[in-house]
Amino acid sequence: MRLQGKVALLTGAGSGIGKTTAELFAKEGATVIVNDIDQSKGKETAKGIQAGGGSALFLHADVTDSDSVQTMVKEAIKAYAKIDILFNNAGISGVGALHEIEPEAWDRVVQVNLRGVFLPSKHVLPHMMERKAGNIINMSSCIAEIGLARRASYSATKGAVLALTKSMQVDYAKYNIRVNAILPGTIMTPFVEQYLKNAYEDPEAAIAAIKTRQLSGELGRPEDVANGVLFLASDESSFMMGSPLYMDGGVVFGKDA
Ligand code: NAP
Repeated sequence: MRLQGKVALLTGAGSGIGKTTAELFAKEGATVIVNDIDQSKGKETAKGIQAGGGSALFLHADVTDSDSVQTMVKEAIKAYAKIDILFNNAGISGVGALHEIEPEAWDRVVQVNLRGVFLPSKHVLPHMMERKAGNIINMSSCIAEIGLARRASYSATKGAVLALTKSMQVDYAKYNIRVNAILPGTIMTPFVEQYLKNAYEDPEAAIAAIKTRQLSGELGRPEDVANGVLFLASDESSFMMGSPLYMDGGVVFGKDA
């Protein structure tokens, strides 16, 4: 019970890494606020947690919309009086070299992946500052550290999230708020399945190629990342501040040939 008594808000928790992390947080004793833009997937996550004896509430919001996020945070505070942990997880993929990307598609990736970290943080931070306690985990990606083909918009946002994390940590350390980032490698989730279908003619060949760039030889699982997020959310990581945590099967630091 590493999160006993804590209240955690997770964005984009209707699917993939966010969903698995919400389930793990609940098992560890947290009251979980499940956010997603997709009502049915978000409600399903919350229902599953409740059915397993955990405490969960679904709150709908689009993380790119300030009013929507503000209302979600107000409802969360009304229900539980505090938010101890914010996991800024919601994100979308973006495919293409820079010259191939339409401006609207670029803007949407920036909106969800960067504004979608800014807005929940903006609306949750005043509550954490008032209590002089809080823990924020931002979803970056190992792509913030390495060049990968045809991922210009996505890598730009994930690099920005890593830089933002460090800047946030400096500003909020005096309020006893920690801000860290998680940097996964390729994790098999609905997001990646969709990306593989959209970006490659032969998704199976693409998976084989992705496996060869990882020392693990396998793609990651949502559980792998959820365990890292749990560590960042718990007091076990209390000396980590403004840091990246890599969960990437060796993509960033390993080279086999
Ligand atoms: P996922 O399975 O697609 O889950 C993301 C969830 O966020 C989806 O339910 C999605 O809803 C939701 N969402 C999208 N836009 C939203 C918005 N505006 N407001 C609220 N919720 C929104 O993806 P995942 O693979 O778990 O990825 C989660 C995060 O990890 C993302 O930030 C991603 O960039 C990051 N990441 C993933 C990998 C990987 O290999 N999977 C690696 C590194 C980093 P819809 O399905 O309706 O869009």
